[in-house]
Amino acid sequence: MIRCSSLGRTGLVASICLRFLRDTKEPRDRILQIVPSSFDKQDELVWLPNASGDYTSKSDYALARLSTQSHITDQFPWRKSVWNLNTPPKVQTFLWRSMNGALPVGSVLLTRGLHAEAKCKRCGELETPLHLFLTCPFAARIWDRIPALFKPDASTITSVSNLLISNMRMINLPPTGLGTSPIYPWLYWHLWKARNILIFEDRSWTEAELVLKIIKDVRCWEEKFYFEKMKNFFFSLNYFLFII
Ligand SMILES: [Zn+2]
Repeated sequence: MIRCSSLGRTGLVASICLRFLRDTKEPRDRILQIVPSSFDKQDELVWLPNASGDYTSKSDYALARLSTQSHITDQFPWRKSVWNLNTPPKVQTFLWRSMNGALPVGSVLLTRGLHAEAKCKRCGELETPLHLFLTCPFAARIWDRIPALFKPDASTITSVSNLLISNMRMINLPPTGLGTSPIYPWLYWHLWKARNILIFEDRSWTEAELVLKIIKDVRCWEEKFYFEKMKNFFFSLNYFLFII
């Protein structure tokens, strides 16, 4: 730990310390370039992420998460892959949570000290979002039954962001009547629901039941979407006829 003297500005001292920890290139020269404050105050070490200057493990954890995830989420095509999808807001938010490590799956619970909850209840592997959505044998059997082209290849996908990007290529197959509504957001939604029902209610859906629920929900959403579109069209037409 570095303790600088005669600088008189606590934020500056902490900033130097943090920079030194991150970047070990010539710290002595960097420190010597700083112009000391004219105020005659005592130097002290402070933790910049907290307004109070006190270190807390919570702020440290938040900082660590920010530094590891921001570069991934900054480059992710959020509009194409999440917010502009023809799917309900609750499912879009669920995808957003999945991408941001906000789903309480086993790997997340493990970081909070809950070791007993870390394994997948179906296969015993570590439960990560990617495991739940793609690599778990149960998820793989669901993917096999989904009527779509260009499904993700589990051997080449390494993260949820990769998975969602690869999903953009998928095309629904007839005769399921799914229209333009993507099927995969509902697949993830129902895998999550099936996982929670298994853990909290000790009940299990078969692969066939789960696929049926997915297709039924996509169809319902597509019908609702089409109905709203037609309603808006006729409303606009009536308004046009009324004003001429
Ligand atoms: Zn599993």
